[in-house]
Amino acid sequence: MSPTHVLVLNSGSSSVKYQLLDMRDSSRLATGLVERIGEQTSRIKHTVAATGDTREQNGPIADHQAALKAVAEELAWDGLGLDSPELAAIGHRVVHGGMFFSEPTVIDDAVLTEIERLIPVAPLHNPANLTGIRTAMALRPDLPQVAVFDTAFHTTMPEQAARYAIDTKIADRHRIRRYGFHGTSHAYVSRETARLLGRAPEDVNVIVLHLGNGASASAVRGGRCVDTSMGLTPLEGLVMGTRSGDLDPAVIFHLERVGGMSMDEIDTLLNKRSGLFGLCGDNDMREIQRRIDEGDAQARLAFDIYIHRLKKYIGAYYAVLGRVDAIAFTAGVGENAAPVREAAVAGLEGLGLAVDGDLNAVRGDGPRLISPAGARVAVAVVPTDEELEIATQTYALVGKGS
Ligand code: AMP
Repeated sequence: MSPTHVLVLNSGSSSVKYQLLDMRDSSRLATGLVERIGEQTSRIKHTVAATGDTREQNGPIADHQAALKAVAEELAWDGLGLDSPELAAIGHRVVHGGMFFSEPTVIDDAVLTEIERLIPVAPLHNPANLTGIRTAMALRPDLPQVAVFDTAFHTTMPEQAARYAIDTKIADRHRIRRYGFHGTSHAYVSRETARLLGRAPEDVNVIVLHLGNGASASAVRGGRCVDTSMGLTPLEGLVMGTRSGDLDPAVIFHLERVGGMSMDEIDTLLNKRSGLFGLCGDNDMREIQRRIDEGDAQARLAFDIYIHRLKKYIGAYYAVLGRVDAIAFTAGVGENAAPVREAAVAGLEGLGLAVDGDLNAVRGDGPRLISPAGARVAVAVVPTDEELEIATQTYALVGKGS
């Protein structure tokens, strides 16, 4: 029988997240996380999905090679090591695929070179992704390894949505355009939303609101992305946990010329010390809600700014799509924070949008509708599953033929 397991690797600069799935029924076999790679206090936490048993090991893990070896050892404990005959492929999350990669791609030297060429537009993410890929390829050179790009779903955006209104020659020379991110999530959630409505993805227009620590919105027409809120980098768009989202670019000139800050300091300010955190000192929506309940005005204002921006994007994408069948909330905040969902559509009855208070308050794991019965536009909570999407795309590419 053909091998049916897919290992999904998400390699960050100091962490590796992994999941092993059996694609016969898309079930999880194991999940885990290696954290603080390169420090003395590294840690690997491994969970056997069937039993929920976890194993944890603390102690220095020097680099990604050591991290993947530790992952392989953990999997081998359960007879599922990297040498398992059941393993069909490894699927790698790659953040930036530029304009070149619109599909999941089997990795070879040319693909590695192209991912490397994109480092200037993804200086934090692509080097870490590459390290993970190279290490996994060294461990299993014979196994198909597939890159699944965060940007791929957005390559269908038309030029009027993808281009910034700057000098075209300069934009092209430096590959400056709107690429968008969280693509595997937007792809998965828009498709699951169609399924929830009992309709084919080709027939449905959806606004997906991926609200996690990073946050992005997308307008999906008939299963194809036509606009998304993140741009050249994940900094553009919605108010996020620590990122500012949209702002007048002149703020940057002002901070440099008048504020005396260096470009690196401004980069850190906008990516790591802005958004909800910059506004109120907290980036966790649970903490912000707790503070609002206690009457904290700063937390309230941060929430209101967050919601105001979200509403503007809902309105914008409504206009881009012309007809909207559903709005889907997903990721940590979107799936869990009922007050955010309620506030985001409050006052938008004119657009056919409303949430039912009781349905919105229900907690649950699966996709569910929270709009009132008979609503013109469905409002849904659709949990995202980026690992499953990466595994599905990887297996579709290599699994069945091997
Ligand atoms: P993610 O990036 O998708 O993992 O989302 C992480 C964020 O989700 C956290 O920073 C929290 O702000 C938010 N979050 C997680 N659980 C809850 C919850 N129960 N209520 C409100 N926000 C939550």
